[in-house]
Amino acid sequence: MKRIAILGSTGSIGTQALNVVRRHRDRYAVEVLCAGGNAELLIQQALEFNPNAVAIADSSRYREVSDALASRDIKVFAGASSVADLMEMSTVDMVLAAIVGFAGLRPTLRAIEHGKAVALANKETMVVAGQIVTDAALRRHVPILPVDSEHSAIFQCLVGEGGVDKILLTASGGPFRGRSRSELEHVTAADALHHPNWSMGPKVTIDSSTLMNKGLEVIEAKWLFGVDAERIEVVVHPQSVVHSMVQFCDGSVKAQLGVPTMETPIQYALSFPERIESHLPRLDFARYPQLTFEKPDTETFRCLPLAYEAIRRGGNMPCVMNAANEVAVKRFMEGRLSFAGIADFVERVMQQASFVAQPTLDDLYETDNSIRNLYR
Ligand code: NDP
Repeated sequence: MKRIAILGSTGSIGTQALNVVRRHRDRYAVEVLCAGGNAELLIQQALEFNPNAVAIADSSRYREVSDALASRDIKVFAGASSVADLMEMSTVDMVLAAIVGFAGLRPTLRAIEHGKAVALANKETMVVAGQIVTDAALRRHVPILPVDSEHSAIFQCLVGEGGVDKILLTASGGPFRGRSRSELEHVTAADALHHPNWSMGPKVTIDSSTLMNKGLEVIEAKWLFGVDAERIEVVVHPQSVVHSMVQFCDGSVKAQLGVPTMETPIQYALSFPERIESHLPRLDFARYPQLTFEKPDTETFRCLPLAYEAIRRGGNMPCVMNAANEVAVKRFMEGRLSFAGIADFVERVMQQASFVAQPTLDDLYETDNSIRNLYR
């Protein structure tokens, strides 16, 4: 029985992970559930999965959660630091890191430092602190298993392989693929939240519409697979059936395919190194008479080249870019920034921020904090 802690259990990835657990109760026990502020859903999940402990980052919701769970033998904690503290529990075997944004870094790193295997959905952790996180994982001999569908695909293509030539990271292109800059002038957050293939949390959906999501994934892939960003090529594949590919030194290309559902990569990360049964729909090739591939439009979707620039400059620059993007996405969702304004804003912050070549963890917290404070 694998005992799992789910960070971000009330989100899109968290709830889908609980679907996987529900189907495989003989294999997985939920030891810890952590949420941001959604007390109602956290309570409901705790009553169903009976974890040892729950934590809610928003302390103002503590009383509500503890009252609702008073009759159960479930410990209740509140506050961001308690979320991270729970990662030290000796009864946790694996942590599913599915908090959104920079907030996921501290608990994920704490889990790694305490020797827990990590199923990683929170790509921002790798973007911001890839060197520190991978060093910690190596030191503690902790596996980091990708949950992102593209990285799960690459991981699966690499099993038993060496001689990687390049990684071909597929992208759906998002809801605005094919549109010009001028056609995107007046799009709203509601338009951007309509992803053609995937149902995801709001932040990652907006990131998909700007292609920043793909930029974050390029940086995540660099750290997960130890491949330089110049050897990671983004290929737009609107059907989202090929989840990514690896080209090897002999010219062969391996791809991983499947229907677009996150439950498959979540299950693979939880069950690795085993591959286990799933009831999920099978890929019906007759439904996809055409699988198409094209180059990304980096003139219109400038967040993607900005991510390549951030990783090329290195140091704290990916952290700067990530913080600027989180601020910009929030502003866009609140109607305070236009769609094109997201890339403009990220670029400006990257030009103005102070550069730290060899950042410590404290430098990264300081970088993130200063950008959020400066551009509330
Ligand atoms: P959601 O917005 O749906 O969920 C985010 C989760 O994080 C919620 O449980 C939320 O809690 C919790 N949370 C937010 N802030 C905090 C905080 N400060 N402390 C503790 N918990 C917090 O996001 P997704 O599930 O879509 O995405 C999660 C991560 O997975 C992201 O990094 C995303 O890029 C990545 N990812 C997502 C995919 C998807 O299909 N959704 C695909 C691949 C990667 P609450 O709701 O209670 O406030």
